[in-house]
Amino acid sequence: MRFLLPTLAIAVVSSALAADKIKVVIIDGQNNHNWKATTPVLKKHLEDAGLFEVSVATSPDRGKKEEMAKFAPDLSQYDVVVSNYNGENWSKELNDSLDGRLKEGKVGLVIVHAANNAFGGWKEYNQMIGMGWRDAKFGKRLKYNDGGKEEIVEAGKDQGSGHRYTGPFTVTIRDADHPVTKDMPKEWLHNNDELYDNMRGPIEKVKVLATAIPPADKKGTAAHEPMIWTVDYGKGRVFHTPMGHDVNAMKCVGFAATLQRGTEWAATGKVTQKIPANFPTADKKSVLPEK
Ligand code: ZN
Repeated sequence: MRFLLPTLAIAVVSSALAADKIKVVIIDGQNNHNWKATTPVLKKHLEDAGLFEVSVATSPDRGKKEEMAKFAPDLSQYDVVVSNYNGENWSKELNDSLDGRLKEGKVGLVIVHAANNAFGGWKEYNQMIGMGWRDAKFGKRLKYNDGGKEEIVEAGKDQGSGHRYTGPFTVTIRDADHPVTKDMPKEWLHNNDELYDNMRGPIEKVKVLATAIPPADKKGTAAHEPMIWTVDYGKGRVFHTPMGHDVNAMKCVGFAATLQRGTEWAATGKVTQKIPANFPTADKKSVLPEK
């Protein structure tokens, strides 16, 4: 009996750990990007963190109205939704489910890259994501000035959203106290990616954690563009990064850690993960192997 007890205890502990994993659902199925290639990368990054149990909910293809009306993953099964979706409108049922559950703090939301292009006419979505890819007349724009202070550009001024610069760029941490960005190097070099500029929206309860500058000599805005941010939506937490155009961009260790930490934070409000030893530095990229 003396020898059986420890075995039993271990069995109980490990089953409790499995049950305690954060339940994630990645939503994809329509995107002007190669979601069939990028969803497996997002899924693997999350699984590699050891904290998440990851499901994927794939919508019907474009133009399948009847099937689309029935597409409504049961969000009560998940702690956090990761959107890799940029396509046709969801059903009212799914919209209301995400809106209601997020507002009540029952689910978190993570927005990756072109997911912020979606649903321009859905008022609540614009509030959830804070800012996204919208035309010049839509919403406000937020940037940092050279003194490191936030500046809000009012609606109708400045340009519509774009990615005027594509290439490697430096991510500058603006909030080193937030659980997601805590312990990241103050500056780190991201792998080649589209650098989204002029993100626009209602910008309510947005906290910018990091910015990046698209260089003027390469068609960029030369402004400090928000690159990682959070939104408090009711009691819910939204984590948002416009990084992640393709598999190559997502293979950056900085992107992977940002996603892993942001997803944990959106689900629980905490981050228990350490910054990996191979995290990029100010002048050195760090990219995971292709396979
Ligand atoms: Zn893109």
